[in-house]
Order: sequence, then structure tokens, then C-alpha cells
Amino acid sequence: MASEIEVVDEGAGVGRGSAEASGGGGAEGEDALKNDVYTAAAYGDLEKLQRLVEAEGCSVSEPDGGGYYALQWAALNNRTAAAQYIIEHGGDINATDNTGQTALHWSAVQGHIQVAELLLKEGARVDASDLHGYQTTHVAAQYGQTAFLYHIVTRWNADADVPDTYGRSPLHWAAYKGFADCIRLLLFLDAYKGRQDEEGCTPLHWAAIRGNLEACTVLVQAGKKEDLMVTDNTGLTPAQLASDRGHRQVAFFLGNARRVFDRRCDGNSKLGRLSKLGLAPALWCVIAAMLFTYTQSVITGSYILRLTALSELCAWSGVFLATAGLVMFYRCSRKDPGYINRSVRDEQSLRDDEPLLKTDLNHPALLAGNWSQLCVTCKIVKPVRAKHCSTCDRCVEQFDHHCPWVSNCIGKRNKWDFFMFLFLEVSAMIITGAVTLTRIVKDPSPPSFGGWLSHNATEHPGAISFLIMDFLLLIQVAILTYVQASQISRNVTTNEMANAMRYSYLRGPGGRFRNPFDHGVHRNCSDFLFKGYNEDVELPEQAQPSAEIGMIQMSRSTNMQNGDNLLHQASNGHVCVDVHTKNSKSHGHSSKCCQNNNGKSDGVPVGLGLGLGRNNRHNTRILPL
Ligand SMILES: [Zn+2]
Ligand SMILES: [Zn+2]
Repeated sequence: MASEIEVVDEGAGVGRGSAEASGGGGAEGEDALKNDVYTAAAYGDLEKLQRLVEAEGCSVSEPDGGGYYALQWAALNNRTAAAQYIIEHGGDINATDNTGQTALHWSAVQGHIQVAELLLKEGARVDASDLHGYQTTHVAAQYGQTAFLYHIVTRWNADADVPDTYGRSPLHWAAYKGFADCIRLLLFLDAYKGRQDEEGCTPLHWAAIRGNLEACTVLVQAGKKEDLMVTDNTGLTPAQLASDRGHRQVAFFLGNARRVFDRRCDGNSKLGRLSKLGLAPALWCVIAAMLFTYTQSVITGSYILRLTALSELCAWSGVFLATAGLVMFYRCSRKDPGYINRSVRDEQSLRDDEPLLKTDLNHPALLAGNWSQLCVTCKIVKPVRAKHCSTCDRCVEQFDHHCPWVSNCIGKRNKWDFFMFLFLEVSAMIITGAVTLTRIVKDPSPPSFGGWLSHNATEHPGAISFLIMDFLLLIQVAILTYVQASQISRNVTTNEMANAMRYSYLRGPGGRFRNPFDHGVHRNCSDFLFKGYNEDVELPEQAQPSAEIGMIQMSRSTNMQNGDNLLHQASNGHVCVDVHTKNSKSHGHSSKCCQNNNGKSDGVPVGLGLGLGRNNRHNTRILPL
């Protein structure tokens, strides 16, 4: 991939030929003492800024040695007051550095919404492009700043699907970097996932090249079979690229996804219709056959001892329970498990250019940054406990699991029926098993075990086979019933238990599992049994000591997620990146990619230079050094 705004890692590089390279170890005091408007802007030192501008006559409209403006440094560090001051004292809001970037571009690196809001209100151009054609939306995608992206798109109508000079949209970048939330948001914003860049690569190609499994999963979920077949300029599909790069897991996933799509497309063929029907008819037949065998071979079979009235009642109650269970089984497999309607935007957007309904965009879950609640397939903001079922291809409220045996999802609306089905069948199996055993044992037979066995095998083969079947099924169904009952008592779903670590709402203080929907065994069970489901009412979290939100601290090491960073120290002592060196590198990569896909870089694309990293929430400070 070509170039991007590069994050400078102060630990990764060395000052080139700079007398001040030793400053790389940098004491905070030393930097704070630097007497220029760029440092003052980066630190947000308003007092110093005022003194420099008003008493010493320094300009805020001139670039520093690296060609960067004071407003850019303020934007990079979210120094809103300093930025306001600079704007009021002659700083050009749309001033561009040597790379064509504005302060707004820089505010996107760390996703500083506050300062971006100020810049935009003061007239910053949201569609400003740098030398590579990157708009602010590209920068936000490159750094995974999902909330920032959401803000500038919804509030300032930034273009979330604009291609850069190389034909790459923010979605290409988010896919390449593996920012799954960013991908979800962009797809939700109707970004075009089939766009091919100058190398013929779609976002899925780039996610595959980098081996980003989660990014691939989100893109495939939102896509069609055709997306998996698209070839780049060298004729390779995403799966082939992943395989070439040695990303076996991703290659396997993409290959498997293709088979799943094939099966779905097969829906109208005989086999497809049969697979859609699932195993429910088979299970129904098994239960019906067992019931028939039981009544014929056990209740009305020929035994020497007749059933007493009480044991006959007991024997028939087993049949009654099993039949009631079958009714529940039917209801469970036919009922709507809690499907959530798909967005009707698709049909609307045919007539209307408006890509999203405002109500969708102002959803509280999005305002709170819960990006995992976006369903890229249904194009909806799903409720917190809902999940998209890939078999049903719908979102299901309080998704528990997709049960092939009932050929339906188990969710909020049919979990009660499912549990009752299990409970009734287990009860029936215990009773019928006990009755059968008693019948066989009490039937007079030769005293030896061998004699008893051959007697029953010849006299009561139906009862014996029923007993074996009953025993085998009982073990499995009883375990399932116990697991379900235990989960109901804790108001947690099978899906939540299996994927707890993926859901932020299930994480309490210290990252430990905490279920906010657990209202105690009594209430959980009574709600479920009498109301039929549990409402998603969250328990308030116990007050925790507030997390430390300090100023970004000064540090010489920036932990950059994607690793490859480069630092130069300009002669004026400001940290910057050698744009020319990096650009020439990037072009080298790029052309190589065009010639041979095996040569596609899975390292960080190099390129345009800019300040510091996005992951330095702690112990780092971003400033011109
Ligand atoms: Zn969905
Ligand atoms: Zn399903």
C-alpha cells in the first residue's frame, strides 16, 4: 500500500545529522523551556503563547523549520484554548504544511474531537486533501479513530467514502490496518466495499494481505460471494493473497466463507431446500418413533404381570409429557426467535441520495461508541444482547444459539419454548425409562443374566431398544437442560458465555467478567418462567474510583500499534519525518505491488510524515521537540 501519515516513534529512530539528536532522551523541563510558539502550542501553554505573541511579537502564522504550523501542533495535542488563541491572532485555519496537510488532518491522528470541532466551526475545510489525496476521513481510518470519524461524518458531512490519489477509500485503510470497529462504521455509512484501488485491490484484499482475521470477518459478513472472487491486477483473489502471505487462518476462513455462500445460493436446489429444513424433521421422527415403540412395546406389550392402575397412570403420564414436549418443539422451531427488522434504507437509497437516516446515526449506542452494536449486514444498530445469526442471516434479540435440531435460532422470543421442550422431554424420558426398566425387571425370566438377556431380547425387543435409545438421549438432553437452566438462573445466554471476552458490556472493573443483567436467581428465574423472557435492564455498576485522566505525558517512547516508525530530527530541533525519503520508499513498495502480488508489502506503508503515535495515551506527549 502506498503512503500514509506516518507516526513518529521517538524510540525507533535517531536524529539524522542533527546536533540536537541527543535531545532524543529529552527531559520534560528542557522541552518546556523551548521558547517558541510551536512548543507552547503543543503544550497548550497559553501564558507562554501570549507572552511570545503579544510581548515578543512572534508570529503564529509562520511554519516551523519542518514546515509545520503552530495550529497543527495544538491540534495534534488537543489544545483547544491554544488553537483558539492562534486562530484569533492570525493563524490560518487552512494553512497546509509541505505535505498539504492542515491542522484538521492532524487532529484526526489521535482523534481529538474537541479541537476538530473548534477548527471546523472556525471554517476549516473538511474536504481538504493532502498531496496523497488524503482527507481527514482517511487519516481517521488510518489510525482507527472511529469516534472521530463518526463525529465528522455525522456533524460535518465529511465524505466517508472518498478515494485518495491511489483510489483507496477510508475503508481500504481501515481494512489494511485491521480496525474492525472503523470498518463496521464505514460499512454502516454505506462505504463501497467493492472499490478497487489502482492495484485492483478491494478492502478485503488488503485485509487478507495483512492477515487481519477480524477485518476479513466483518467485510465478508457484509458482503456477497462475488467479493471473494474479485481479482486484483495480478489475478489473485483475497484468499490466494492470504495464502501467499502465509496467513493460513485467514485463507481458511475465506475459503470456508465461499463454501457457505455457495450453500446459501443453493437454497433453491433440492439439497439446498433440505439443508434449510435442518434436522428438526429428523428429531421429530425420532421422538415420534420412540413414543410409538414405548406405547406398543412397554405399555400395551405382553407381559406376565399386568400394570396396576397407578403404574399405568405413571406410564401414560410419560406419553403425555413427551407429547406436550413435541408441541413446545413445534412452537420453538416455528416461532420468530426475536428477529430484528433489517433497515429499509436500501430501498430508500435507490430513490434518495441520503445515505443514512438521521435517526440511525443519532443512536445512543453510537454516541457512546459501542461500535460492535452495528450490524453491517442488516445495516442496523442492534440491541446490546442481539447478534447476527449467519445461518438465518438476520439479527436476533438476546441471541442464544442457532440450534440445527430445531432448525431455528434460539432467542428472546422462543427460549421459553425451547427450555420447556427440553424440560418436558427430560421428564418424559426419566419416567418412560423407569417404567420400561420396571416392566423388564419384573417380567419373570430365567435366573441367570444370560438367560434374562436372551429372554428379553426375544420377548421384548422393542422395550430393550427403547431403553437403550432413551438412556443415550437422556444423558445428552439432561446436560443441555442443566446448562440452560444454569444460564437462565444467571440471565446469560450461551453466546455470551462463549464469547464473553468480545463483549465490553460483560467486562467489569479490572476486565473481569461481570453480567449487568443478572438480577439474582429468584428474579431471573421468575421473569423467565412467568413473563417468558428477561428484560434487558442493566444493574447500575458500583461506583469505582474514577480513572486517571491526565494530560498526555512526555515520553521518548511511543508505542505504535503498527510498529514501523521513523524519526528524524530536523535541524531546528523539531521532530518531523523526512517526507522525501519516506515517499520514495513508498513508491518503491507500491510499484512492486503492481508487478507481483507476492511482493505486496504487509509492513506498514510508509509515506507522508506527521507527528506522533495514536496509542500514546500514557506517558507520552506530542510536541515539536
Ligand atoms: Zn444483522
Ligand atoms: Zn439462526
